[in-house]
Amino acid sequence: MQRKSYVVLAALMFGAGLAGLCLSWTALGHQFDQQAYDFLFRLEPPAPWQPDSVILAIDEETISKYGGLTGMRAALADGLEKIRPAGPAAVAVDLILADDPGNAANPRLAAAFAGTRNLVLSCDLLPDGKGWEDPLPEFRKHAAAVGEVHADLDKLDAVSRDLPLEKVAGHDRRWALALETFLAVRGVDITESPRDLLVGTTRIPSADSDGRVIRIRYTPPSMGGIRHVAIAELDRHPEKASLFANKVVFAGVTAQTAVRDRWMTPYSNGIAMPGIEFHANLYETIAQRMFLVDAPLTEVAGVCFLLAGGAGLAFLFFSGWQANVGAAITVLVSQAIPALAFSRGTVWPWMPGTLTVLLATSAAAAWRHLIVRRELRAAESEKNRYQRSMQFAIHELRTPLTAIQGSSELISRYGSMPEAKRKEMAELINKESKRLARMIETFLSVERLSAGQMEMKQERFGLGPVVVRCADRARPLAEAKNITLDLAELPPCEISGDRELMEYAVYNLLTNAIKYSPAETRVTVAAGIGDDNNRDQVRLSVQDQGIGMDKKEVGRIFEKFYRTKRAEQSGEAGTGIGLSIVEQIVVQHGGAIQVESEPGRGSRFTLVLKRA
Ligand code: ADP
Repeated sequence: MQRKSYVVLAALMFGAGLAGLCLSWTALGHQFDQQAYDFLFRLEPPAPWQPDSVILAIDEETISKYGGLTGMRAALADGLEKIRPAGPAAVAVDLILADDPGNAANPRLAAAFAGTRNLVLSCDLLPDGKGWEDPLPEFRKHAAAVGEVHADLDKLDAVSRDLPLEKVAGHDRRWALALETFLAVRGVDITESPRDLLVGTTRIPSADSDGRVIRIRYTPPSMGGIRHVAIAELDRHPEKASLFANKVVFAGVTAQTAVRDRWMTPYSNGIAMPGIEFHANLYETIAQRMFLVDAPLTEVAGVCFLLAGGAGLAFLFFSGWQANVGAAITVLVSQAIPALAFSRGTVWPWMPGTLTVLLATSAAAAWRHLIVRRELRAAESEKNRYQRSMQFAIHELRTPLTAIQGSSELISRYGSMPEAKRKEMAELINKESKRLARMIETFLSVERLSAGQMEMKQERFGLGPVVVRCADRARPLAEAKNITLDLAELPPCEISGDRELMEYAVYNLLTNAIKYSPAETRVTVAAGIGDDNNRDQVRLSVQDQGIGMDKKEVGRIFEKFYRTKRAEQSGEAGTGIGLSIVEQIVVQHGGAIQVESEPGRGSRFTLVLKRA
């Protein structure tokens, strides 16, 4: 496999990780993450505990008993009076008592408040959002604190998973009702840091940069929720007042018809939760320290890239079912991480890893598919080429064999053959069998050379002497065709490798140049050291004024047995093997061969070699 393929795979995997991260930040990705969060929330509920809080409910029955909504203050005053003997630890009232100063029940309610330990009242944002709607002073003066209960009803899917512990209107900041109640119960103050709020010994992880948001751990269904006792119920069952002993009481409206702020929770099955229960759940989250913290982005990103890397490695090292098993493992890991993290109180987003693994495995599988196809194609073409070579070789070998067969048959059949004729036949047999042997030898050596089986000597030798020797050997051929063999002055330079093989290569170029050139032309051999940037290079060129080749042919002349049409028509004998050997030799020497040619004008073959 080529290096480029690895780079492509690495880039694909990096892209998958990045795309997984980016896509999960879209609104749709966020929506999926929330669904996954709800799923894990239901899958891994906390172990049941004994809640600190009880709800003092103004339900349908209470409202009708006290004469509708206007009787709510009287109902609350009644309720508080009834539970007071039990001694609740604190009472948080989720009713906005900012208006109706003339209500007949106000003095009674104020009196009930006066007798209530750790009373926390509520405030809401003014409609213009520029200030707070606070309890009437007659109530306010009995409260230990006032907490805000503003409901954000603009959530995307109406499921309440988290909420800010602080809200600011103008310059006036208020803590959430549940947090104020917790402070009142503990009798401590808040120490703020950018990352969390410290309340006594309880550290609430809620970063300032996120608006002090915390996730609410609702009481799981197995606990049956936080206990409700309706005010009307206390009339029928006065003994139930004891349920409030030492409890943190959240008093508010639960009647379906009267509550404005109702919420879905990850547990609720279409049944909304009244706001008062929501505050009690937030209180439990803080009091039980059941905090769910978001995983840091850097860790999520790191895991995404690791997952992509895993998918890439699976398809790099394996194929078929093994690669698929590898991919399946990355999918499992991507699903297991959010679940494991959740069980340890960390909210790990589901989308980035899932998307990354999906993208990475598909990309890696596609990459593998393409690579396999390419390798298959290469193997196929190699096979075709080999079959073609074999056909050529057999065809070539047949010519001398036929001559040998024919001549030997003639000699044996005609015993009374004249001596001269017999000698001529014997010489022909000898010549043809030598040619056969030579062809077999070249054929085998090129096969061995390309298979890397041929031993190559490693010695230092001067290129000049090699060229001169080749030129001396080729000169008779040139002279026979009246071709001038021009040997330019060669710079002294040594290369390292197999001298004999190099001589074979240079000689081949020279004889080809002579073979494929008409008479009365010139063949020029020149050599030069590479330019300033390539001083360790030597270029040896053999230029002729012969038949030349067109571009398409140049691309094929190094194939075994390939001969151009012009070469065939020239009548020059050849096998089409020589150049493939030359190329192998040059490559084995760490060099390259370049060809420039023009039909009818000539060719230039250049060997680019490394200097020793
Ligand atoms: P052969 O010469 O035995 O045919 P080679 O492998 O040496 O085999 O060369 C392959 C083919 O390349 C030749 O048949 C010829 O078509 C082409 N060729 C090689 N050298 C030259 C040249 N100098 N000028 C034109 N064609 C050439």
